[in-house]
Amino acid sequence: MVPSLDLKAQTAALRDELNEAIARVLSSAQFVLGPEVAAFEEEFASLCGAAYGIAVNSGTSALHLALLAAGAGPGDEVITVPFTFAATVAAIGYSGARARLIDVDPATFCLDPAKLEAAITPRTKAIVPVHLFGQPAPMDEILAIARRHGLTVIEDAAQAHGASLHGRPAGSLGDLACFSFYPGKNLGACGEGGFVATSDPKLRDTLRLLRDWGQDRKYHHAIRAFNYRMDGIQGAILRVKLRHLGAWTARRRELAAQYQQALAGLDLRLPAVRPGATHVYHLFTIQAHHRDALQRRLTAAGIEARIVYPYPLHLQPAFADLGYGPGDFPVAESLCGRVLSLPLYPEMTGLQVDSVVAAVRAFYDQTHAAR
Ligand SMILES: *Cc1c(COP(=O)(O)O)cnc(C)c1O
Repeated sequence: MVPSLDLKAQTAALRDELNEAIARVLSSAQFVLGPEVAAFEEEFASLCGAAYGIAVNSGTSALHLALLAAGAGPGDEVITVPFTFAATVAAIGYSGARARLIDVDPATFCLDPAKLEAAITPRTKAIVPVHLFGQPAPMDEILAIARRHGLTVIEDAAQAHGASLHGRPAGSLGDLACFSFYPGKNLGACGEGGFVATSDPKLRDTLRLLRDWGQDRKYHHAIRAFNYRMDGIQGAILRVKLRHLGAWTARRRELAAQYQQALAGLDLRLPAVRPGATHVYHLFTIQAHHRDALQRRLTAAGIEARIVYPYPLHLQPAFADLGYGPGDFPVAESLCGRVLSLPLYPEMTGLQVDSVVAAVRAFYDQTHAAR
């Protein structure tokens, strides 16, 4: 049996360290923010190459606050993509702005910068490129266009902890960057968590107010704001896990290289890595013509391969008010019918990769023989 990820194995391997971290918070009773969260903010901001970090209670909250800090609100437009997790588009709605979508690149799954300039209007406030599946979006092109038009760039780095572009880490590429510590992410809490990274002290101050009821001092509310604070226990847990992130990422990249090599030459499209990008393989996503049959074959062999994402956001009932319809984003629509994410997680063994490869190869041998 090969699961798509194994959180039990990861948690068991760190049990003593995690128990110690939780015990520290229990004895200090600093359950909300506090010293563990403050230390985590410094440590993770440093990994991001950002001067400041603001820890919050989810990646969705991080996006919401980053958009508000960028000044997005009613009457504004924010550009993002239809091939991402729903939170990216939902958070734009929370800010009061309207999401304006543009299609993605079929090889890298990220925002297609060739489509960007035509989507900019006088109402555009910000761009939210998503570093999907662990590979940075084409930030050079995006930033050049954003600077010409005076737009804020907010990285959705929820799947890209430790990724980089030309040696610069995700989290330092845009004006603001948002991370998620949902348990299944490359760096996951034992519960919910999120983070905004920035190097702008003004944005930092606004984000700190927005996360904690707008309080510039106790019970004095400078702005209308939220309760989006991170738990002390999650901060302590994330500090433990952060120490292992480098090794986990290296292992993900090693397993991905094994897949890339062993699956070459088959009638499927392997993940493409853009020059200069360091991909951290949150997911190893292939594109296959007979995707559903391949998935059934893998399931029968005890291999859990997931479809991420089966539906593009512009065709979901929840986002019908954006006014898009079938055919508006052909690349996103066709990807939803072809993508399949093979199991990949740091605790996976090379033998497990071999067994996935063998099952994929057996499927192609059989479909070719049937022709
Ligand atoms: C997980 C994720 C989010 C949301 O993060 P949560 O912590 O689950 O709120 C946002 N964007 C992307 C691309 C994600 O994968």
